[in-house]
Amino acid sequence: MNNRGMMVVFSAPSGCGKDTVFKRLCEKRNDVVKSVSATTRKQRADEIDGVNYFFISKEQFEYLIENNGLIEYTCYNGCYYGTPTEGVHEAIQMGKICFLIIEIEGAQNVMELFPECVSIFLLPPSIEVLEKRLRGRGTDSEEEIRNRMEIAYKEMSYKDIYQYNVINDDLEVCVDEIDKILCEELKKHNA
Ligand code: 5GP
Repeated sequence: MNNRGMMVVFSAPSGCGKDTVFKRLCEKRNDVVKSVSATTRKQRADEIDGVNYFFISKEQFEYLIENNGLIEYTCYNGCYYGTPTEGVHEAIQMGKICFLIIEIEGAQNVMELFPECVSIFLLPPSIEVLEKRLRGRGTDSEEEIRNRMEIAYKEMSYKDIYQYNVINDDLEVCVDEIDKILCEELKKHNA
C-alpha cells in the first residue's frame, strides 16, 4: 500500500545549510518534495523563479492573502514569504513527504493548524560557525548579515517548540538523522 502524504515543517536560521541538507535528503529519498514558497524578496543571481521561490510583487502577494491562496505567510526582513496552499495539497495527495522550509512564525502557525505535522529545527554547530557561513555566502550586504544574525539569535530561542532538533555539523550525519526521523514518523503516520 502507498504511504499517506505527510507534512514536515523544517526551520533553521539562515546560513545554517538547510538548502544543502534538503538537497542531499532528496538524493537519498524519492518521496520528499519541497513546497515552493511565494516571496516578494528580490531574486538572487543563483535562484530560479518557480524552483527556489515564486518571485511575485507585493500586489500579487496581497491578492493571494485575500483569496486564501496561502496556508501561512509572514513578513521577514522586510519582505513577504508564504506557503501556497495548492502545492502542499497536491504533494500530500500524491503521498509525498512535503517539506515546508519556513521561518519560526509561519512554522508555529502551521503546527497549530496541522497538529499532525512533523517539525524539525536545524541548528548550526555554533553561533561563530553560522556567522562565518553567512559571510562566506557573499550574497548579502553587511547590514543584511547583521539583521540575519539578530534574527538567528531570536529564532534559536524557539528551538524547543519543534519535535526534533538536528545539528548540521557533518552533512552526512545530519541527513542520516533526518532520514531516520522520517522513517519513524512514516511508520507512526501509516500505522
Ligand atoms: P531567504 O530570504 O534566506 O531565502 O529566506 C528567509 C527566511 O524565510 C528563511 O528562514 C526561510 O525558511 C523563510 N521562508 C521561506 N519561505 C517561507 C514561507 O513560505 N513562509 C514562511 N513563514 N517563511 C518562509
